[in-house]
Amino acid sequence: DIFAPRINSKGYPMWDDRTRETMLADIGKVLAKPVKATALVSGKAGKGGPVRAITSPHDRGVQIGEVIEADEKAIAQAMTDAAKANGAWNARGGAARAQILEKAADLYEANTGQFMALLIREAGKSLDNAQADLREAVDFLRYYAERARKDFEAPQRLPGPTGELNEISLNGRGVFACISPWNFPLAIFTGQVAAALAAGNATIAKPAEQTPLIAYEAVKLLHEAGVPPDVLHFLPGDGARIGKILLAHPALSGVAFTGSNDTASIINRSLAARDGAILPLIAETGGMNAMIVDSSALPEQAVRDVLASAFDSAGQRCSAARVLFVQEDIAGRMIPMLEGAMAELTIGDPLDFATDVGPVIDEDARTMLNDHKKRMAAEARTILDMQLPAATKAGTFVSPAAYEIPKLSILKREVFGPVLHVVRFAGDRLGEVCDALNETGFGLTLGLHTRIETTVAEVRARARVGNMYVNRNQIGAVVGAQPFGGEGLSGTGPKAGGPHYLNRFATERVCSVDT
Ligand code: GLU
Repeated sequence: DIFAPRINSKGYPMWDDRTRETMLADIGKVLAKPVKATALVSGKAGKGGPVRAITSPHDRGVQIGEVIEADEKAIAQAMTDAAKANGAWNARGGAARAQILEKAADLYEANTGQFMALLIREAGKSLDNAQADLREAVDFLRYYAERARKDFEAPQRLPGPTGELNEISLNGRGVFACISPWNFPLAIFTGQVAAALAAGNATIAKPAEQTPLIAYEAVKLLHEAGVPPDVLHFLPGDGARIGKILLAHPALSGVAFTGSNDTASIINRSLAARDGAILPLIAETGGMNAMIVDSSALPEQAVRDVLASAFDSAGQRCSAARVLFVQEDIAGRMIPMLEGAMAELTIGDPLDFATDVGPVIDEDARTMLNDHKKRMAAEARTILDMQLPAATKAGTFVSPAAYEIPKLSILKREVFGPVLHVVRFAGDRLGEVCDALNETGFGLTLGLHTRIETTVAEVRARARVGNMYVNRNQIGAVVGAQPFGGEGLSGTGPKAGGPHYLNRFATERVCSVDT
């Protein structure tokens, strides 16, 4: 039961508050020595590629480790070995693979300190975000294990009039490339890899450039749990360089990608340019997510949920709220309340328990966000642009800000950080708000605060989004309970953490026997 409360091997309740001292001591021990990662091809360290130092987003002067990235030889070898290994892995069946993934889940839990330390220092995650990332990773392992056991072990008998024994079975497609983002460097990395493995594929894991150390630790534990080294290869490094070789390789059978729309398009075009079989691309991309608050909402509750949706994880979730649509009648109360609540946010070192908003991932992100904020300061009304505390100087921080804009269409791109845009709408224009959101082409999350049931039904019927949340925040989908993913520009489906996810990593075979 993936929902059962668990205790980790150290004896403290895994997902409840741990004592400050124990957790900080664990994290301190991990960070005391530099963390080193390399490419892993059939379990062997690749040592020939470029070396990249990994510094912490909260303080760029702090180097936490380094990675030796995959070179061309490692990529080619990984593909060759994976192509040889996938048949035997698929033949093991869903139950055997499930057992290995469940063992990996236990090992992840036993390595809480290691993962927490890296999530905080390599990815800049706050303590509770780091814990949530680890929990989601563990949930993915257990959930896909359960699905593998249900759907990939025995063939399913089909009914019908033929008088024959007709059976359908699911099998791995071959070699899957999993290309993952830095914003959930453990959860999404693990989710993609676990799904590809559970479905019976040999897997090439390509982590984000910014977060290879976390991913390396994860791969080592997956191997330790029993995933054969030639079934799971690890290729850290520059996306464009590695992607180009991977995507053109004849042994490739499919790609799972989470990240920007631009990169998804590049991958899509590269796959289309290949000769031979047409390969599946599972893409989860961006969003232009809104929270809609009508005049029946409780403003205090709505403000709390907007704050979490827009500024948790420094806004670096693809589910995060970028726009608050607030009905005119309530806007005069709600906007000052929002400003007041924002002013209470604590910006700082993510290792500090008091921190609400940590750094953004890197210098490029900071520049992009600050450029956008400059544009907003000139073209929109600034509700609040917070001061950055002096202690954040050495890191890549962006101050949380909110701007009132006249209409949604002035936002041309997803703004991936702690910036909220507020639009007022007239009482009778809710339908038009939904239409405007649909017209962006994105369809990831939508938040709605209302106490009118017919409004929920109306918005639900009209909004083309993958995940809608009513009278709560719009982030933090729970594996199994809230399968996650969007439509249109936001992704191809199927939903991560949902019952159909593994099917896209698989091929269906039917066998009919005349009995
Ligand atoms: N699943 C995450 C959430 O619900 C977002 C994942 C992402 O940012 O890609 O907040």
